[in-house]
Amino acid sequence: MSFSFIDKHVLIRHHKKLGLLGSTGSIGCNTIKVIKNLNDNDYNIDVIFLTTNKRIDILAEQVSVLNPQSVFIQDQKKSEEFKSNYHFRDLEILSGDDELLDLIKRDNYEVLLSSVVGFSGLKPTIEAIKSGKKIALANKETLVVAGSLVNKLLKEFNTELIPIDSEHSAILQCIKGEDNDSVSKIILTASGGPFRNKTIKEIRNSSVSDALAHPNWNMGNKITIDSATLMNKGLEVIEAKWLFDIDVKNIDVIIHPQSIIHSMVEFIDGSVKAQLGIPDMKIPIQYAITYPERISSGFPRVDFNEFNDLTFEKPDFEKFECLDLAFGTLKEDGTYPVVLNAANEVAVDLFLNNKIGFLDIPTLIKRSLDNHKSVKNFELEHIFEIDRITRKEILNN
Ligand code: MN
Repeated sequence: MSFSFIDKHVLIRHHKKLGLLGSTGSIGCNTIKVIKNLNDNDYNIDVIFLTTNKRIDILAEQVSVLNPQSVFIQDQKKSEEFKSNYHFRDLEILSGDDELLDLIKRDNYEVLLSSVVGFSGLKPTIEAIKSGKKIALANKETLVVAGSLVNKLLKEFNTELIPIDSEHSAILQCIKGEDNDSVSKIILTASGGPFRNKTIKEIRNSSVSDALAHPNWNMGNKITIDSATLMNKGLEVIEAKWLFDIDVKNIDVIIHPQSIIHSMVEFIDGSVKAQLGIPDMKIPIQYAITYPERISSGFPRVDFNEFNDLTFEKPDFEKFECLDLAFGTLKEDGTYPVVLNAANEVAVDLFLNNKIGFLDIPTLIKRSLDNHKSVKNFELEHIFEIDRITRKEILNN
């Protein structure tokens, strides 16, 4: 194994210029709280740009606090609305895919924090790596569909990628200072989601709001549904494989309903390290920005008098078929994870719009995987093509 991003000596600097991709979502809003904490603690984060799909009201609030040079608004109509409703002096306002890629390629910032949801995060992240930016990544789908290519590019352009996902941040913290060869196993913890104790019959009849009622984490809709199906953990297994260059047979998933242990690493001598904390994304976000340094914060602390019952159970692969499907895509090198991700994004969207039932999500994904002929030695073009075809096939059926 090689953990390329921790081998490098990282120059510690207290001034960082940051581009924030997806600033108005759940991670984006938490990131802005983190930046405020850092700037209150002798750290100097300059936010160069913010981007949103269409939440212009939140964006306007963020602009007035952070005073960035540019904003990008994906939705053309919302972009026009923003221009007529708000008048910020010297603020550049961009829209349209080409303008986003231009913004990403500029050399007026150093770190891209990517917190968009889904496949749409891939292209900008690739462009940022190609222009030598350091990546703080919350968008796990990028690694799920293109992990091998991303790793190749990170090497070629001599830069690094730090995970924000709480499990992967935990693993990074556990392996820091360890020999690459001393890791024997990665143990990803999962809360189990809202349906952990429900029967298949109860799950089948569950509504969108049942599935959105996550017991521990407050997140966006897509990832919350992924947590209910356990697909989120499946995507995280694939993410871990690429981040830590580890064989999937050495990645375990364990249900830990309290979400206090964010993940663990087992070493060759039998020792296990775990990283613990309150389920609050501000902690892993800040660690990704300041890595390898720690900066003080007033974020909530674990009170072990309150959390005195940390429990573990085996995941039920029959009840949560998505987790099984995700593991299955790693049986051979190839493009199955691209199909898994595309089919999942479409199926979750259909479920959120009351078009299909909860258990139709794994059914649709399985059908797409069964219909796919995996491509070995694939390039970026293959990924975009397979993603497009998978989505089309589901929507046409
Ligand atoms: Mn996670």
